[in-house]
Amino acid sequence: MTDDVREVLRSPMRELHVSIPVRMDDGRTKVFQGFRVQYNDAKGPTKGGIRFHPDETIDTVRALAAWMTWKCSLLDLPLGGGKGGVICNPKELSENELERLSRGYVDQIWQFMGPDKDVPAPDVYTTPQIMAWMMDEYSKITGRNEFGCITGKPVCIGGSCGRDDATARGGMYTIREAAKELGIDLTKATVAIQGYGNAGCNAGFLVRDLFGSKVLAISDSKGGIYNEDGLDLDLACSVKKDTCTVVNSPREGTQKISNEDLLELDVDILITAALENVITKENAPNVKAKIIAELANGPTTPEADEILFKNGVHIIPDFLCNAGGVTVSYFEMVQNIDRYCWDVEDVYKRLDDRMTRAYHTVLDTSRAYNINMRQAAYVVAVSRVVEAMKMRGWIKMG
Ligand code: GLU
Repeated sequence: MTDDVREVLRSPMRELHVSIPVRMDDGRTKVFQGFRVQYNDAKGPTKGGIRFHPDETIDTVRALAAWMTWKCSLLDLPLGGGKGGVICNPKELSENELERLSRGYVDQIWQFMGPDKDVPAPDVYTTPQIMAWMMDEYSKITGRNEFGCITGKPVCIGGSCGRDDATARGGMYTIREAAKELGIDLTKATVAIQGYGNAGCNAGFLVRDLFGSKVLAISDSKGGIYNEDGLDLDLACSVKKDTCTVVNSPREGTQKISNEDLLELDVDILITAALENVITKENAPNVKAKIIAELANGPTTPEADEILFKNGVHIIPDFLCNAGGVTVSYFEMVQNIDRYCWDVEDVYKRLDDRMTRAYHTVLDTSRAYNINMRQAAYVVAVSRVVEAMKMRGWIKMG
């Protein structure tokens, strides 16, 4: 990589820091801090989710915006990368407060977003309903129905069929390819899932329903459950809905397990679907899974990565494994432009094609250069962005 390339890619193109005043239900006004980072748009409008989280920081949003750049490039989408965040705890907000906060965020950033500029989407603790409010606010401000300004919307207002479980489903296609590569029979495979939000919960159902694999353990921020004969996922899901955690799932033979112990279980596939930095140099030597599917962004630290590679663990890196979400978001943008609605099988087929192609491009690159899957994914993704920057004249050819 030349110095020019490094110089351009080392910092985001644009970074917005906003204060969002929200009238709370008790009549007081509370001010929330929010961010939107547009990392690089050489390949197209920036694209990426918005997180609502109490521990949000600009550094995390910046790193995630860079990852979105690589993710879109790796999937060969005509999009750049961005990310947003608001420091808040949505679990402590009423529905009306959440709506006012969502609209308030758009009021602060609308000039910098739009179908040809920057297109947000759901992420940690943001939902299709929140996307609907945001799209409505943007449409009101600009005076036209602008469905394409945001993705992950409900299907009745321009959302795409298949977007709700797209992240998990996209991950499944990469797991299927990895299992073929390693000679793992998925009908007999055992699985542990760390993180039981949208992606983790859908992943549980999909490994069971698409492959017939057995999920032995799941966990969320409050802890986890384990059953050596396989968990009742429908029960766990309804318990999670009722009590906001999976730990109280009552069933014979099911015991509690900590998040730490879950990561070290003797299973074929470990799916990390929570937040960043859960596999570290401390626990990496104890990971027994043959495949780690990173459905979350950044679950493995760089030190842990090296240890796992040496130990022969096959990692499907985050910006490949979880790219199904943004890929179907891209399909949603295309459908919005055409004012057309693809059926769900069409979406699955196109998603499968893109994920499978990306997986094999990364695998071939890792073999060609004798590097690990994450390094290979970077080689593919960064070189495409660099090529686009060269063509646009941002950096010298050659
Ligand atoms: N938040 C998801 C991600 O990290 C989806 C982004 C999108 O759909 O734009 O990839």
